[in-house]
Amino acid sequence: MFAWMLLFAFAQMGHAAAGSTSIYLDGKALALPKNGQVQNVNGNVMIPIRVVAEELGFQVNWEKKTGTVTIKQSGTTLILTVDKTLASVNGNEVKLPIAPMLTKDTTLVPMRFVGEQMGLKVSWDNTSKSAYLKTPVPDSGTGQPGTETPPADNGLATVQGITFSNNSLMIAVDKNVNPSIFTMGEPERLVIDLPQAQFAGTLTDGHGLDANQSGSIEVTDYPDVSKVRYALFSNSPSTIRVVLDLNNKVNYQLINEDDGLIIVHLNVDPGAGADDGKKTVVLDAGHGGSDPGALSVTQKREKDFNLAVVLMVQKLLEQETDIEVVLTRNDDSYPTLPERVKIAENAKADIFISVHANAGSATARGIETYYTRKESLNLAQVMHEHLVEATGSPDRKIRTQSLHVTRETSMPAVLLECGYLSNKDDDALLATKEFREKAARGIADGIKEYLGYN
Ligand SMILES: [Zn+2]
Repeated sequence: MFAWMLLFAFAQMGHAAAGSTSIYLDGKALALPKNGQVQNVNGNVMIPIRVVAEELGFQVNWEKKTGTVTIKQSGTTLILTVDKTLASVNGNEVKLPIAPMLTKDTTLVPMRFVGEQMGLKVSWDNTSKSAYLKTPVPDSGTGQPGTETPPADNGLATVQGITFSNNSLMIAVDKNVNPSIFTMGEPERLVIDLPQAQFAGTLTDGHGLDANQSGSIEVTDYPDVSKVRYALFSNSPSTIRVVLDLNNKVNYQLINEDDGLIIVHLNVDPGAGADDGKKTVVLDAGHGGSDPGALSVTQKREKDFNLAVVLMVQKLLEQETDIEVVLTRNDDSYPTLPERVKIAENAKADIFISVHANAGSATARGIETYYTRKESLNLAQVMHEHLVEATGSPDRKIRTQSLHVTRETSMPAVLLECGYLSNKDDDALLATKEFREKAARGIADGIKEYLGYN
């Protein structure tokens, strides 16, 4: 789901305040369009509906004909209309401080209203032009319910998320830290200590913290690791320890660039990424975990379709010994968009293919291929041609759009919208094994042709 008409940069509008706005969700900066689409209009921060969908993770539908934006999230439905200050919240009329705006390239909605209606706490710091959104913290019995405040600025780095996927540990920190990493034996463990660090009130990926400031993640699908454990190891100095419980000895590679994202790759093939004649393809199943993507007319979730097709493509490419496949997720987890980009960069991928399904009008059907940078056009052409041919679906053309994963990657990158979940025929089709196999075959064939293996 990246549907709609969210296109490229445009000049900032005359009445919008100068200077750029930052938005943080649970301490993590949202990836905002760099082109002034986020606007401050008379003190109201207006955000594009793309940000509502991609960064806040709400389900968004845009109906162009009526200028209606429908935003849904766990039991709450907001309906907003362009240029109208009356909105509907679960069927009740509510007055907006400012009407949604249709700009040249997108529709902007008032951030505070949307956030608060969806249960977020919204605060605004006018000096730094920053908005802070917080998801409510369930009462754990130790904190003060409902009064969760950002950690005081005590100079410590804040760990915001810990995930394990793609045989790699990822730790998201709000600023750069100097981790130490070492192994321990009997039983085998890999230990990562983060000095001068504390936990955020909640970890953004849904993994919890208990009252003792610790938690764990069971790992079932990687043979090297059985569990990830994390805890506040020491109070003075404040140190966080993350431990991987291992099933065997591993080699590892620590990547810690100056962006607060720490990655530990396990059992990296020393030849990986080297120019050994092999080509590396990153397959990105869109959405996942807490982000279902688009919901179909029969309530099927886009994330499930995306993953199923990606796993089929992986299987098809297994037979190609010259192609190395790296997945951004191989289960129902949610790597953030920057994490997906980082996986591709670290793998020194030759190409990046993101698989999605679309939502939009009830009548639209068929396949669209998106790219952002012009180096990706050729890949887009090859992939689009194969996907349309293999599926027999209507050709809705190759399009340009500024999407995070196709914009921020450095290798040719495309995003495939394989059909419309908002259309009842496409919805039924996309649920079938036959269609998924055809789509996977088209994608695999496109990859092989582009990389010169056909
Ligand atoms: Zn999507």
